[in-house]
Amino acid sequence: MDVFDIFQNFRISESERLSGEAKGKAVNNEIDIRAMRDQIDHLSLVSKAMCELLAEIGFDQSMLEAKIREIDLRDGKLDGKLEQTKTCQDCSRVLAMRHVRCLYCGATV
Ligand SMILES: [Zn+2]
Repeated sequence: MDVFDIFQNFRISESERLSGEAKGKAVNNEIDIRAMRDQIDHLSLVSKAMCELLAEIGFDQSMLEAKIREIDLRDGKLDGKLEQTKTCQDCSRVLAMRHVRCLYCGATV
């Protein structure tokens, strides 16, 4: 076995190792996607139940949309997402979780 053969064998075993690693990651991603689909299905069910209950007591679609917009804007961005927030202990303003200091008063949060 010459140097070229040793190099080729190394490349083959390395690509087999990477291939196995990629398959493992693909399986894990598939499991994660399945779990997220289950969570989405559950959240859809809860949302449907809440919408039907709200309709029964007189809330309509426009009231629901206004509330969604109000909650969406709590993190300062109308982006259709609910970002986790925290409240400044000093000035009581709402901040995104990524902030270490309050944007308004400078307190450590
Ligand atoms: Zn503050």
